[in-house]
Amino acid sequence: MGDDTIAALATAPGRGAIAIIRLSGARASDIGARIVRPWPASARIATLCEVCSPGGERLDQAVVTRYEAPRSFTGEDLVEIACHGGWVVPASILATLIEAGAREALPGEFTRRAVLNGKLDVLQAEAVGDLVDARSRGGQRAALTQLDGGLSRRVLALRESLIELEALIAYDIDFPEEDDGPVAPQRILAATDQTLEALDRLLATARVGELIREGALVVIAGAPNVGKSSLFNALLGRRRAIVTDIPGTTRDALEAVLDTGTWPIRLVDTAGLRETADTVERLGIEVSEDYLARADAVLACGDDDASLEHAVVVVRGRTTVPVLPVRTKMDRDPRSEVRGLREPDQVIWVSAETGEGLTELIAAINAVLSTDGRLPDLDAPLLTHARHRHAIGQARDELAAFREAWGGAHLPAPVAAVHLRSAVHALEELVGAVDVEDVLERLFARFCVGK
Ligand code: GDP
Repeated sequence: MGDDTIAALATAPGRGAIAIIRLSGARASDIGARIVRPWPASARIATLCEVCSPGGERLDQAVVTRYEAPRSFTGEDLVEIACHGGWVVPASILATLIEAGAREALPGEFTRRAVLNGKLDVLQAEAVGDLVDARSRGGQRAALTQLDGGLSRRVLALRESLIELEALIAYDIDFPEEDDGPVAPQRILAATDQTLEALDRLLATARVGELIREGALVVIAGAPNVGKSSLFNALLGRRRAIVTDIPGTTRDALEAVLDTGTWPIRLVDTAGLRETADTVERLGIEVSEDYLARADAVLACGDDDASLEHAVVVVRGRTTVPVLPVRTKMDRDPRSEVRGLREPDQVIWVSAETGEGLTELIAAINAVLSTDGRLPDLDAPLLTHARHRHAIGQARDELAAFREAWGGAHLPAPVAAVHLRSAVHALEELVGAVDVEDVLERLFARFCVGK
């Protein structure tokens, strides 16, 4: 399978000015030269060519760039045909390449080859997928940092520290009968604590990292007719929900992604979704229990003091995540003029009608989602996948077990050292230095063809 020459459409199928077809493998130049005329004289120079079937039928005029191994994305001979888009042209060129001896690529196969040929490590390959799937500018920046190798370097530096620790206790392993080795135990403990702290700091980025990649679920709750759907539409800047005066006419759960520049906010209006048995609805508040259980933050809405207070009390009683009190329809309320004096500070006043307060509301949502009220540094390495969190968590736990075994229980050095080895292994698996095939198998299951 690894020796095949693979081909795929690398751009999204359908109508478009240009489509790009990729061809990679030992026979890429061979196969390419059979259908591209003239064959580009130099590698890495975009050349205007004709693409023809082996029988001589003209298929398209295209810009072709060829790359020679190992200087290509995959590390193999690679050809990129930038042809006209649409349904027929790219499909006919792809079919001709297959006829000429290429095989259709599996999802993620180009990136997989890049990893196996040492062009990218597993974390960088994962970032390629994240960049394509990014749903916010924040996600884009975090994926780019990971693609640049930011996270890989941090993980490899941690691995280095663990290996230094192994070296420090090596003397104890080699000469167990001597009481005082050349390395003072305090020094080993101090180095252990330092690495533990560094692992903890990295682990602490997981919540924000996963929010950035997956989006924060922000659910709108409140009594019927307080303006939930209108708020949903106003925040998204377009009319998605059906807005009407008659209570209960919002037909379905509506979810849309709002890019705030940091994390994507997956905004949900669930009014109308609940079953009548839903306990929240029986308390006069529209929000589905199911969404409430999964929310990262809830907007409790009311269009007067009583409905707002009721919404906040009911929602706070049902979730531990941040609840933001949102006072809707401020354009109708003369008191909004003096709201700073009359209302508790944390109430956010908005009007879906005039758009007032929406920027403040988004800022308030971002603030409650960030751990200490500060927005994350997207150029620093972040743990963006559960896989990262598990690996770093495992390394941390193994190092803590080493500390306990060696510094606390005073077990023999070889016994304690087993934990250090396991910690190193967890980090190596994360970057794909070991068990790379297993990791790739899981990783590329979610990739699309042509990547
Ligand atoms: P929901 O049942 O909570 O989703 O409420 P809707 O969004 O359907 O709104 C109920 C009614 O309140 C509609 O007649 C809206 O036009 C009106 N409404 C919603 N937001 C505002 C607002 O900001 N200002 C004013 N003046 N009316 C609003």
